[in-house]
Amino acid sequence: MNNPLTGNTPPQWDLIDVVLLDMDGTLLDKHFDDHFWEEYVPRQYARTHGISDEEASERLLKHYRSMEGTLNWTDLDFWSRELGLDIPALKRQVDHLIAVHPYALEFLDGIRNAGKKVYLVTNAHGKTLDLKMEKTSLAGKFHGIYTAHQFGAPKEDLRCWDSLRDMIGFEPARTLLAEDTLAVLDTAARYGIRYLVHVANASSVRPPQTTDRYFSIDTFREIMP
Ligand SMILES: [Mg+2]
Repeated sequence: MNNPLTGNTPPQWDLIDVVLLDMDGTLLDKHFDDHFWEEYVPRQYARTHGISDEEASERLLKHYRSMEGTLNWTDLDFWSRELGLDIPALKRQVDHLIAVHPYALEFLDGIRNAGKKVYLVTNAHGKTLDLKMEKTSLAGKFHGIYTAHQFGAPKEDLRCWDSLRDMIGFEPARTLLAEDTLAVLDTAARYGIRYLVHVANASSVRPPQTTDRYFSIDTFREIMP
């Protein structure tokens, strides 16, 4: 299923005004998030509830999956309530794993130097966003930072893109989105965003997830403006 608008072609920078960038997996190493949710939280949950690590993992992964594609998926307060754990406090215990992908900062500087507007658009919860901005040098790099939680719909939902458009007024035909989540790229394609870039190397410790549906990169060095 090639995107009928873009196919698999690299971005044409002279036809792009606005760049929308996802955070986790795209600009930041998804290893932090994977480790946190798949290993660290199950371990704490097992301890708190007196069950084995295996049982905790199984129970939690099932629970996570049931919330995929919804705002609950990234809502730290939701998971704190559901799991009986202080999720924001646990995140801080492993925040040394938060890391910016190679070439991400150079790419951000390159976009701004080329005169484009650049926005961070994430499904991450406000508390996650705050922690990641505090632990990286990303914060000053954008014309605006938006989380889907403020729009009441995740990026997998067309309404999220409508709300974002109301907010910043981008023209979909002259906009680029870079993302590691295919479901979000699919939604953006349906919305009419013309230039879609898939980030295959979301995690530094997992093999790249390649796709032929979108133009796929390992690092932003491949599409420097
Ligand atoms: Mg992502």
